[in-house]
Amino acid sequence: MPYSYDDQNIFAKILRGEIPNKTVLETDHSLAFHDIQPQAPVHVLVIPKGPYVCYDHFAQEASDAEILDYTRAIGEVCRMTGVEDGGFRMIANAGEAAIQEVPHLHVHILAGRPLGRMLQ
Ligand code: 5GP
Repeated sequence: MPYSYDDQNIFAKILRGEIPNKTVLETDHSLAFHDIQPQAPVHVLVIPKGPYVCYDHFAQEASDAEILDYTRAIGEVCRMTGVEDGGFRMIANAGEAAIQEVPHLHVHILAGRPLGRMLQ
């Protein structure tokens, strides 16, 4: 399926510096920042800097360097926020069924409270 990227989405504006964010980590190809409406004591969003709508789009079109950088950035955020100690959850919503609000790939990292069972 061809993806079309809307460069007016909120995270594109954050990447262009048009909207402020609380940055946790910035690398060549990735940015991590605190979610504006945290659902847990730790709620960080990690995004690639490239224009990818969702993980499938990213996996198809990103370069090896972007994929490596993004994967490592997610791991680095886990270490920086200490979430590895007590456990954490990573979520990436895509499209309508998952109610993806912002059409720029983002991984949520949630931790710091019991997160409950997600899949029954
Ligand atoms: P989604 O539902 O697309 O997986 O999650 C989008 C997330 O982006 C939500 O958790 C929401 O709180 C967060 N968000 C929306 N607008 C902003 C914003 O302007 N700044 C930040 N830091 N997070 C945002």
